[in-house]
Amino acid sequence: MARTTTRPGVSKPATLRSTNPQTGEALGEVNPSRPEEIRGVVDAARKVQPEWAAISARGRARHLRGVRHAIYRHLDEIVETITQECGKPHSEALSHDVMPAVLGLQYMEGMAPKWLRPDRPGAIVGPAIGLSSRVEYRPFGVVGCIAPWNYPFFLSLMGMVPALLAGNTVVLKPSEVTPGVGERIREVLESLPAGVATVVQGAAEVGAALVDAPCDKVSFIGSAATGQRIATAAAKHLTPVVMELGGQDAAIVCDDADLDLATSGLLWGAFLNAGQACTAVERAYVAEPIADEFERELSAKLARLKQDGRGDIGSMTTPAQLETFKRHITDAVAKGARVVAGGTDAGKANSDGSLWAYPTIIEGRGEDMEAFREETFGPLLPIVRVRDDDEAIRRSNEEGFNLSASVWSDDPNRAKRIASEVRSGTVTINCHAEAAGAPWAPWGGVGKSGYGRLNGVYGIREFTVPTHVGTNGPVTLKRIFWYPYGEATSTALRAVTELASAPVMGDRLRAARRLAGSARRAFKEKL
Ligand code: NAD
Repeated sequence: MARTTTRPGVSKPATLRSTNPQTGEALGEVNPSRPEEIRGVVDAARKVQPEWAAISARGRARHLRGVRHAIYRHLDEIVETITQECGKPHSEALSHDVMPAVLGLQYMEGMAPKWLRPDRPGAIVGPAIGLSSRVEYRPFGVVGCIAPWNYPFFLSLMGMVPALLAGNTVVLKPSEVTPGVGERIREVLESLPAGVATVVQGAAEVGAALVDAPCDKVSFIGSAATGQRIATAAAKHLTPVVMELGGQDAAIVCDDADLDLATSGLLWGAFLNAGQACTAVERAYVAEPIADEFERELSAKLARLKQDGRGDIGSMTTPAQLETFKRHITDAVAKGARVVAGGTDAGKANSDGSLWAYPTIIEGRGEDMEAFREETFGPLLPIVRVRDDDEAIRRSNEEGFNLSASVWSDDPNRAKRIASEVRSGTVTINCHAEAAGAPWAPWGGVGKSGYGRLNGVYGIREFTVPTHVGTNGPVTLKRIFWYPYGEATSTALRAVTELASAPVMGDRLRAARRLAGSARRAFKEKL
């Protein structure tokens, strides 16, 4: 994996080393870029950007198809690198990382030419008053993409593909936790014209240098704490940012839920990727009458999962995240929570430097627990019993922050009513944690879980400046509000204002008559 991106003869920053968190075994090293080099990389991306933007949207989509085909050619190495660096099961590297990346690419390639076509808003009213409008979706320039480690392949592409399709060039900084995956991404991007998509490796200081280069737009996926630092740094240059941050997703399980479906869905929704998913269920509000049966069925299904390296649940990826997971359980137990399954002592021993954590279900009061104040980002599912739908909705909105949320009920109207009251970027009914992989659906947060959107038409347009080109026409005319402001002009302008604001028909008719009487004279006054 070793690769040098630093020029010879200059001081080297710390090497990025990756280890397999399932075994503690060293995997390889990557030499990172120096922060001082990043401005030059952005300048080079800015030089080739006009040429990339001059290619039609369809042509750019064809180039991106080459990336998809390169993924096909390198599929085994990509999946293996993700599996090893993240400690996730092979099936998850495929189904959560590579599969959604190629499905998203394929969908966005097909739709981008349509979504980037200029619009003609005000097609009737505009020409009627003499201004024909056209909105062109123009690229920003260079987009700096900063990605996390939990889905290192999928999220790197999700944050950069719409930017590229929209005619921007990009500089990607993958996570320092998964530099090997960063190298695999660099390889598949080599099928694009030189300079269109560049990978720079490094930790926070390289990301900060990318924001400060400055880029013309930042596409950030990561934690809220880093998001705040990036927003502050971007403000210095007034650089717009799309912020895809964390979540403490709520699942509301109603008393009429299909228990078999709900327990299977929440089992996966809470423990996928060992809970290290921005959209994992971190709070389950379960209706009191079904709570005992729900917990029994969920625990029974959990007991059937395998956590043996290639099984269903992988290890955690970083020591810091394992510590947060343990701290949240210890705190909840100290505050009276009951451990339904798992716990801090369960699972495999980690004396070899591995990062195993046993999936854990607890039941508690909720609001006073640390797990309800910060994202756990680990395999912990806290269950809280609630009296009714209103309590579940209120607590899901007040006790944490949702990137996505879900409602589980057999009654579609009841589920839709609840969904409409839950504050979240995405709300799903009878499923959870899969919406980021739906490339047609807007993906993004609300409040602390972020702003801006990736995926679909919203994702493409996020990386464009909607630029209005207004033409004086269809008949080219001077304007009634141009100089000079004579008596007829004032009368006509007042008449237009009254016509648009008078509540009574009679007043509107009088204003229309005054307009008809003054407009011709007003135009004659014009210089
Ligand atoms: P992180 O915020 O620690 O790091 C994310 C990226 O930001 C890394 O590449 C890191 O090097 C870089 N970075 C750190 N400091 C920086 C700075 N000052 N300036 C510029 N870049 C900087 O997050 P993480 O631990 O890699 O990922 C986990 C977090 O990401 C969780 O909170 C998770 O919920 C969130 N996440 C969100 C989404 C989403 O779609 N909303 C998806 C996945 C993960």
